[in-house]
Amino acid sequence: MIEIKNVSKWYGSFRVLTDCTTQVSKGEVVVVCGPSGSGKSTLIKTVNALEPIQKGDIIVDGTSLTDPKTNLPKVRSRVGMVFQHFELFPHLTVTQNLTLAQIKVLNRPKEEAIARGVKLLDRVGLSKHKDKFPGQLSGGQQQRVAIARALSMDPIAMLFDEPTSALDPEMVNEVLDVMVDLAKEGMTMMVVTHEMGFARKVAHRVVFMDAGAIVEDCPKEEFFGDPSARSERAQYFLSKIL
Ligand code: ADP
Ligand code: MG
Repeated sequence: MIEIKNVSKWYGSFRVLTDCTTQVSKGEVVVVCGPSGSGKSTLIKTVNALEPIQKGDIIVDGTSLTDPKTNLPKVRSRVGMVFQHFELFPHLTVTQNLTLAQIKVLNRPKEEAIARGVKLLDRVGLSKHKDKFPGQLSGGQQQRVAIARALSMDPIAMLFDEPTSALDPEMVNEVLDVMVDLAKEGMTMMVVTHEMGFARKVAHRVVFMDAGAIVEDCPKEEFFGDPSARSERAQYFLSKIL
């Protein structure tokens, strides 16, 4: 579903990604971890072309993002993205947040968009809050709305960039639970997170990044298995967060 092929990216003269190669198959959950500044956010943003790349290629569901003929907004609308800071529209109600892109981008009739939004709100346990504004919700609730909003576009894959790291600890699990359900239902997911409990539970593979490069890319069992089989940098990273 997602192929990242020898991707390099520079910010000016600073090389932020070095020859990154990995892939996410349909229905696969890949967790991306690594130290702060290692390029995780940049890598995940390149997958829906929020950040351009200077070398290599990214193929999403058969479409090359570097092909000048590719309609990037169209690809982007099919790949859901959830950020650390929920980025809901503060002046719109929960329902309006959930229906805006469905109506504007997918041209869905309003009634249909509302019906879809309500269904998804129910799924993330927030039907009661449909007429509230984001500011009236807790961080965990806002993040669940953000996930429902991304799902309302019927994405072929979901990208998450540290979706729980801005939350108070007691709210982390309510968001992870929604993500675990999604994973179990077979959603294709690329998830930047340091929640190793989540990785152990649902990841198929773990990608470990350091200094802009993919240092490890292996099945979860291998990543959490024999520490001596892992790179020193991954061992050090895990010793700090586990
Ligand atoms: P991570 O998500 O792993 O913490 P990022 O992808 O955010 O890492 O950042 C990787 C590196 O790129 C960091 O050194 C960061 O300072 C730098 N960087 C990120 N965004 C920009 C930008 N827009 N311009 C210049 N440098 C950036
Ligand atoms: Mg980041």
